[in-house]
Amino acid sequence: LNLRSILVLSVGMLLLGGCASESTESQVEAPGLPQELADGAARLRDAALASDEAYATLAELCDLHGHRLSGSDRLENAIDWIADRMRGYGLQNVRKEEVLVPVWIRGEESLRLIEPASHHIAMLGLGGSVGTPPGGIRAEVLRVTSFDDLTALDPTAARGKIVLFDVPYTGYGSTVQYRSRGASAAAERGAVAALVRSVGLDGMRTPHTGALRYDEAVPRIPGAAIAFEDANLMARSLERGDRVVAELAMGASSAPDRISHNVLAEVVGREKPEEIVVIGGHIDSWDVGQGAQDDGVGCILAVEAARLMHALDLHPRRTVRVVLWTNEENGLRGGRAYRDLHAAELDQHVAAIESDSGNGRAQGFRFDLRPAAVDAEEVTPELEAARIRGLEKLRELLVTLSPVGADSVFVAGSGADISPIADEGVPALGVHHDTSEYFRIHHTRADTFDRIDPADLRANVAAMAVLAWSLAEFEGSLRP
Ligand SMILES: [Zn+2]
Repeated sequence: LNLRSILVLSVGMLLLGGCASESTESQVEAPGLPQELADGAARLRDAALASDEAYATLAELCDLHGHRLSGSDRLENAIDWIADRMRGYGLQNVRKEEVLVPVWIRGEESLRLIEPASHHIAMLGLGGSVGTPPGGIRAEVLRVTSFDDLTALDPTAARGKIVLFDVPYTGYGSTVQYRSRGASAAAERGAVAALVRSVGLDGMRTPHTGALRYDEAVPRIPGAAIAFEDANLMARSLERGDRVVAELAMGASSAPDRISHNVLAEVVGREKPEEIVVIGGHIDSWDVGQGAQDDGVGCILAVEAARLMHALDLHPRRTVRVVLWTNEENGLRGGRAYRDLHAAELDQHVAAIESDSGNGRAQGFRFDLRPAAVDAEEVTPELEAARIRGLEKLRELLVTLSPVGADSVFVAGSGADISPIADEGVPALGVHHDTSEYFRIHHTRADTFDRIDPADLRANVAAMAVLAWSLAEFEGSLRP
């Protein structure tokens, strides 16, 4: 709680105590907002904070349909299940839209240290990796701490070796390049496999998977992540002057693309049904854990926001459209397919809101208003002015969320799945979660329902529901 929210709360309580009127409460909470907008926002917030439906639904999603790698039957079953659930809630226009997605199968995998001593190493192959030849790869480990470190070595230094990128985690954005590009950088120097110190905070010997991207110009070699404890073990051995030899076996393979689906549902607008506010998360996950925080939470926040509107008989001026994207993790084809299929109505998209950074308590939203042309980088004075106007409007709309501490908004990237439509000029917003714990479990076997805090989930539903409602209800525009 910040000072302003405490003031709002106490003034609200005083007035409530004095004259016990619902409309008075809304007037106090959101001066300057139309009554209907403010009342609906307050009712949604309070209903979200009082309901455990999201918690129960997320548990079912995780326990019956977690994990959900795109290209798998498990994901398609999850998509059908959540479509049925949304129909059961009474949402409108529930439908699936086809998306062609890559198919990658992990297979059996293991990593063993042979020298200087025998150890089982906790590992996860990286998504999209090729497998090893049958029988695995046995090779000496070459440890580097950056790409520069690798290129500074003798050009033959990595030949025939397993390169370990032992790069300390300094933040997801800054460290993830070693996971995505490490294998090809090592292959370019003649390596036979690449290992990466997991891109994440310290866990309990927990490797983090994630996608790698091959450079077409060099041979494809297997790539895997190891836990920091095992990276440290190898580093200590090398420091002592020991030769480090490891044996990597990966049965990973790819199969032809198959059809997956984005799944959509709506609360149709009462006045301007053709104008749309998109809310959602990605329904696919990695093939370990349960996909609870990444990104079961984002899906459930959107579903629950729409369910609450329907259950409270709130009919927004514009249409609120839930979109649960497929294939965020290893392709982003769901986000691109949505952009292509809905190209003709993107001008009518008022905003898109995505939640894809776990279940830490929402602190507010990141506002992502981009140059309208995809290849334009330049922030024009017009765009800058629109960002400032948008921030002011959003701060006004978010006053209802000050009691839950989710009323801050600033300019930053929104979410991967809505990036393709943000590039087309759709005003995009990312739920800004507290991520101080998220990168401990992200892309690991530990991304399970157990780590979902129910109070945080209720607050996060409130954040999604209030902003979705407010953007569907207000009269203006966030566009330049
Ligand atoms: Zn995600």
